[in-house]
Amino acid sequence: MTKPKRKVKVAVIGGGASGMMAAIAAAENDAQVTLFERQIRLGRKLAATGNGRCNLSNRHAEPSHYHGESADFCSCVLKRENMSQSLARFREMGLLTVEEEDGRIYPMSDHAGSVVDVLRFSLEALGVNVNSGCPVTGVKMNNGSFLLEMDDRKETADRLIVSCGGKAGGKLGGVGDGYRLLEMLGHSCTELRPALVQLRTEGNLTRGLKGVRTQASIRIQREGVTVAEEQGEVQFTEYGLSGPAIFAVSREAARMTGSIVSLDLFPGLETEELYQLLLRRVKSRPGLTLDDLFTGTVQNRLGRMLVSSAGLSGAVPLRGSESLLRPLAERAKDFCFRVAGDLGFDQAQVTAGGIRTREFDPQTLESRICPGLYACGEVLDVDGDCGGYNLQWAWSSGWVAGESAAGNEEIC
Ligand SMILES: Cc1cc2nc3c(=O)[nH]c(=O)nc-3n(C[C@H](O)[C@H](O)[C@H](O)COP(=O)(O)OP(=O)(O)OC[C@H]3O[C@@H](n4cnc5c(N)ncnc54)[C@H](O)[C@@H]3O)c2cc1C
Repeated sequence: MTKPKRKVKVAVIGGGASGMMAAIAAAENDAQVTLFERQIRLGRKLAATGNGRCNLSNRHAEPSHYHGESADFCSCVLKRENMSQSLARFREMGLLTVEEEDGRIYPMSDHAGSVVDVLRFSLEALGVNVNSGCPVTGVKMNNGSFLLEMDDRKETADRLIVSCGGKAGGKLGGVGDGYRLLEMLGHSCTELRPALVQLRTEGNLTRGLKGVRTQASIRIQREGVTVAEEQGEVQFTEYGLSGPAIFAVSREAARMTGSIVSLDLFPGLETEELYQLLLRRVKSRPGLTLDDLFTGTVQNRLGRMLVSSAGLSGAVPLRGSESLLRPLAERAKDFCFRVAGDLGFDQAQVTAGGIRTREFDPQTLESRICPGLYACGEVLDVDGDCGGYNLQWAWSSGWVAGESAAGNEEIC
């Protein structure tokens, strides 16, 4: 009689988005899976994503929305496990989703906790051994298997998946342990920077606009050259600028000192058209003051700030103000702020940079340095745009790493 084949023992370090998906994939492919999570609860960051709504994917999740040293790396992974496949898996787990503006996908429940819950249920149903409140402090190779060190014990595994995330969102679990653990096994890390993050600006102009939101066209300029552009919502804050459109340009804006953020507050109008609009206001309402010049076009506080930041008094009557209108129209089309930095990893949604992807096989996410070792999610040098792309990377890379670690990979 032949002896029954022993199941492959797969250890997953990190019970966030990519780690839970990796554990599910490995267990579905017949591995014996143990998941180690530092925090008491699985998916703590996931439960806070999308302002508690979890923008879990995007219809347009293509390689062009991702960044990193090796631009092509993510395309193979996204081909092997694409957005539709991930959503089908979630549907199978019982999660219904809806699509919103710009292809952003959310759970139908509108609640990020539902995504964590269906993943937890699947881990349980598949018999994954979950160890939460259990930080892994060290890893080494020992006679062909992996030795995982924890404060109070050691565990061994045939295959190891590192899914510890990055440094972003520190309070939610972004502690950067994954870089250290992978370095212990011979890997190297690129420079790490916060991405999808709020910008600090010089001066105190934005303080007076705290809470104001507006649609704008944004240009990031350095030494007179435009290095990034975006259109969308901008929020003014005590320290500077926030909002989805600012997140989108933050990687470029904060990359070097001296960047200028230029906001076009009237993206639908040419400067001359705006000037004519202001002129009509002056002619039709000469009794008003400059404080009301922009009333009805942008938020009142923003309109007044445009006037005062030009060194003009809001009490100046509109009658006879014609000569001031062209510079004010130009200012509204090019409202500038000098970038002083960003709010750092704690406030960032994602880490730009990470463990060098050229050290991994993009077909399987297996290490080229240490056979049997896999990595997925944010710990790798791949980060996506704002809009559900980062979680899609977590699902795709998690699935590929888990399936490959279990030994059932299909090569694309
Ligand atoms: C506030 C916020 C909102 C976001 N909103 C969105 C959004 O709406 N859509 C989107 O696409 N992306 C969003 N993101 C980004 C997205 O959450 C991440 O890209 C994604 O969670 C990365 O998945 P991951 O599995 O690599 O890492 P994580 O989800 O961070 O999981 C890593 C896990 O590893 C654990 N861990 C770390 N070290 C150890 C250790 N030594 N031992 C054991 N466990 C360890 C951590 O505790 C953590 O649970 C948001 C991020 C933040 C911070």
